[in-house]
Amino acid sequence: MEVGGSGIGKVTEKLRENVRKIPEYVPGKSIEEVKRKYGLEKVVKLASNENPYGPSPKVREVLKNFDRFHIYPSPKEIEELTERISEYLGVERDRIVVGAGIDGILETVFKMFVDPRDEVVIPIPSFPYYHTLTAVMGGREVVVRRKKDFRIDEDKVIESITDKTKIILICSPNNPTGNVEDVNAVRAIVESCDALVFVDEAYAEFSDENLMELLEYENVVIARTFSKAFGLANLRIGYAVMHPELRKAYMKVSTPFPVSSIAISAAIASFEDLDYVKSCVERIKAERKRIYSELEGTVRVYPSQANFLFFEAPLKADVLVEELMRRGVIVRDCSKFIGCSPFSVRVSVGREEENSLFLEALRDVLG
Ligand code: PMP
Repeated sequence: MEVGGSGIGKVTEKLRENVRKIPEYVPGKSIEEVKRKYGLEKVVKLASNENPYGPSPKVREVLKNFDRFHIYPSPKEIEELTERISEYLGVERDRIVVGAGIDGILETVFKMFVDPRDEVVIPIPSFPYYHTLTAVMGGREVVVRRKKDFRIDEDKVIESITDKTKIILICSPNNPTGNVEDVNAVRAIVESCDALVFVDEAYAEFSDENLMELLEYENVVIARTFSKAFGLANLRIGYAVMHPELRKAYMKVSTPFPVSSIAISAAIASFEDLDYVKSCVERIKAERKRIYSELEGTVRVYPSQANFLFFEAPLKADVLVEELMRRGVIVRDCSKFIGCSPFSVRVSVGREEENSLFLEALRDVLG
């Protein structure tokens, strides 16, 4: 059958206009692709802010023995994980939701709040999926430029809020810039309005500060993930804390089985070995410090509280990223992130030898 033929009409014309307007998603290159393209044997990927050490051996053991593939996840499993998260964070169980990563949680929260033409405030630059979701829902994005050090400008954010504002997105530590937000700046925003302040703390474990104390407000949601410090990015599991009434609405909107039992079991098992998580975090922080001091002087590197570093080199990011790839190192070109300069690059903190390869390649490119 001819695809795109005239028989049933062009189904793509039936797509919602909001969806048609979103630019095509172009994923980053994989290790295999780069090996093939440049004829390389060794390639390292420092582009997705993963934990290079993976999960604890205890988690791997649980996964090896998993055998309930044919059965839908049971509410009991979610309850058990919720109990562990509640102990870990010191928050009540009836405020916790578990979802398919922070991505899945964001999707549900947007479905809860954003009608066409509602406003979503995004301090820029920040995590690109916030823009995508706003567009998908037909919302109007209101971008607010950050200060020179990439902290949010709380006065400008407050000024940008109207009675159409539904969600304000606060990412701390911020992707791609790595800075944390001052709790009092975010508090001022929270207190200034009734809109939902969604705090994305995907990288909280790598940071000395967090915004947990803002959970006293009913218009705050704080989201965390097992994808980063816990090393479970592939299992797609995260959680969020919110007011119990919001949680009830969340449960109405969420897909019936957003996370698999495999992911839940792995997340529960990772709480059995928090020392392992801490040791990964410590190693990553030590390497972050080393990369930062090596980069200082060569490029404009920004202090980071996450497991990545953001820098601007004296070379356009697309050119730099291509040259690094040619030398076997994949990093993230951030020049197309809304609010970033054409020189913006993000590198994830990997294992010591991976980071050394990156530093060597960068020195080679920049001469
Ligand atoms: N928020 C931020 C700021 C992120 O950087 C990421 C990961 N790229 C996510 C959310 C998504 O995380 P998850 O794997 O939990 O969906």
